[in-house]
Amino acid sequence: MSGSASRMDAIKAVTSIKPVDQAFSFQEVHTGEVFGENVFSPQIMKQRLPKAAYKSLIKTIESGSPLDTDLADVVASSMVAWALEKGATHYAHVFYPLTGFTAEKHDSFMVPDSEGGSIAEFSGEQLIQGEPDASSFPNGGIRQTFEARGYTAWDVTSPAYILENPNGATLCIPTVFVSWTGEALDLKTPVLRSMSALDSAAQRVLKLFGTEVKGSIKATAGAEQEYFLVDANFYYARPDLVTAGRTLFGAPSPKGQEFDDHYFGAIPERVLAFMLETERELFKLGIPVKTRHNEVAPGQYEIAPIFETANVATDHQQLVMIVLEKLAKKYGLACITHEKPFAGLNGSGKHLNWSLGSSEVGNLLDPGDTPHDNAQFLVFCTAVIKAVYKHAALLRAGIASASNDHRLGANEAPPAIISIFLGDQLTDVFEQIRKGGAKSSKKAGTLKIGVDSLPPLPKHAGDRNRTSPFAFTGNRFEFRAVGSKQSLAGPLASLNTALAESLDELAAEIESKTKGDPKKLNDAVTAAIKSAVSEAWPVIFNGDGYSDAWHKEAEKRGLPNIRTTPDALTAYTTKSTIDLFKKYKVLTKRELESRQDTFLEQYILNLNVESKLTRRIAKTMIFPAAIRYQSELAATCTALQTVGYEFDTDTLDYVTKLVKQLQTRIVELEEAMAKDSFRSVLAHAQHCCDTVKPAMEAVRETADALEQVVADDLWPLPTYQEMLFIK
Ligand code: ADP
Ligand code: MG
Repeated sequence: MSGSASRMDAIKAVTSIKPVDQAFSFQEVHTGEVFGENVFSPQIMKQRLPKAAYKSLIKTIESGSPLDTDLADVVASSMVAWALEKGATHYAHVFYPLTGFTAEKHDSFMVPDSEGGSIAEFSGEQLIQGEPDASSFPNGGIRQTFEARGYTAWDVTSPAYILENPNGATLCIPTVFVSWTGEALDLKTPVLRSMSALDSAAQRVLKLFGTEVKGSIKATAGAEQEYFLVDANFYYARPDLVTAGRTLFGAPSPKGQEFDDHYFGAIPERVLAFMLETERELFKLGIPVKTRHNEVAPGQYEIAPIFETANVATDHQQLVMIVLEKLAKKYGLACITHEKPFAGLNGSGKHLNWSLGSSEVGNLLDPGDTPHDNAQFLVFCTAVIKAVYKHAALLRAGIASASNDHRLGANEAPPAIISIFLGDQLTDVFEQIRKGGAKSSKKAGTLKIGVDSLPPLPKHAGDRNRTSPFAFTGNRFEFRAVGSKQSLAGPLASLNTALAESLDELAAEIESKTKGDPKKLNDAVTAAIKSAVSEAWPVIFNGDGYSDAWHKEAEKRGLPNIRTTPDALTAYTTKSTIDLFKKYKVLTKRELESRQDTFLEQYILNLNVESKLTRRIAKTMIFPAAIRYQSELAATCTALQTVGYEFDTDTLDYVTKLVKQLQTRIVELEEAMAKDSFRSVLAHAQHCCDTVKPAMEAVRETADALEQVVADDLWPLPTYQEMLFIK
């Protein structure tokens, strides 16, 4: 009974924890005071760099241009001095390979000197460029192992920071990761390229409205991160959670989330202590976390920072996950960022709030207070609608993963159909424009898109909709279908580039009609919006995205409903995607093919691990528990019969049937897993999706049925009830 004993031990261990003992004291230093303490921020740069160097560095950062080597030396020497003062011994180029994880290569600052001692050394070249031996990072055929050179290069727009460990600290430099031939091997490179494409296109539109921008227009992003917390004792007693990040087995607990009592409920003491310290750590790293609350499912929480420039938000988002996981351990918890750790309960997303703007022009998706702003706003908003309509399949591909497949369309997350929620008021405005330059609005007054005659739009133009994958939320769009574990980078690169394209197309149309005459602007803008919105109209949907009716309706409208990752990933190499990314120099065809292959490989690897785990757990934990119970029942039956008593064999029969079924289903799973020759990576991924996955689910179904009948003291795995409700 060792399995069950360890389960019982886990329960004992959890209930004896005294959370406040571990908590960090916040009395001493106010959290606000530590903000940005570990960041080589513009403020620190100003203090430490010679004035001229500081100015040109800021200019480089703002324009996103490459760092000059002389300047790099100056920056490096002041950065290393700062880092050494903070106790750093090493520096690391941090990069974001296609795995979605964060990768770091650490080097010591110390080098031997001629007198047998050592000196701290960090040159401009070391700051701006690294060469990790990165041959084992996925590259989808771009690079063979014999030509393994990969380079990292500092993204100057994302500040360097110090990551503290109890026994030392590391200076971290956010970098891009490219091959010897300059091809992107990471997630950051296309984000940066897409931001500059979007900048030019947005400026072209602004010019139509008479705004010449001095700096640049930047995409902004703010991500709401959902996650689960489970006590570490339970976590380590679940090989599936440890290795796959989700439970591959587990019958529903008698109580789930049906009372909605967890959502925004009081946060348990230990969890709150963990959150406080997490926020403090994130503050030190200059990450402006703002909100925290319980989410819908028991054991589920959310953390959201204030939005930042898109690429910085993306880097910070990766750090948020790292810090959450690291500090959870300290509080005896495990932080689970998987999209669907528990079947039957809500999964986790990472709502990507996205807009564009600058300090000069403000938020370009803010309807504003004046009619003039409204006209401009309507062009930008139309461009988003147009972009999402045209590139829906690409956006779907960007959120496709083995783990997010469990969530999308699972009646608690947005469906796999990409549609846009605009809200009543904005829909009404566009509806009228579509029906021929609206003359009246719901309120009194005329509704022309004019510089002179459009009434101000309300800031909250409509209600909220939790069921839409892509919703307008007052001054930004919220891409809600993004997975909780995934990087923001992929979705952002696609959104930015698609928006650049549609802004360019709208600008071209307007320019061709006005030919520089501002008096023609009104009609030209109206006409351009009208035709774009009319074409993209099928993508607007304000109703219940979870309903069956919507699935039927979407099909009628011709919207793609791509249910699985292998199917979704094909969108990376369609003509419209290749043309889009080529035109804006964001990704070449070869880079897109490499991404598609890599993501398919990742999918296959995930399913391989899950299927092996399923087999292992079924055979070595569940089957033994089941036959022990079966033999107990059988022994009782025989014992009673020998003394002349009747024994109702219903339970024994049922258990026997399930045990038999479990054995058969394990064999079927093994057969599905055995196939190893495929005509393509896609075919392999499809086999995993269509054959291996259902076989795993069948094993689980039987195991979960057993969990509900086998004696509790024999059951080896911590149950849903224990993991979700014991805090
Ligand atoms: P809600 O509950 O409405 O989703 P939250 O406060 O949980 O609100 O999250 C809203 C997120 O939207 C925050 O991360 C916020 O910073 C972000 N956000 C607000 N304005 C913008 C913007 N202009 N661009 C990008 N993100 C934004
Ligand atoms: Mg929210």
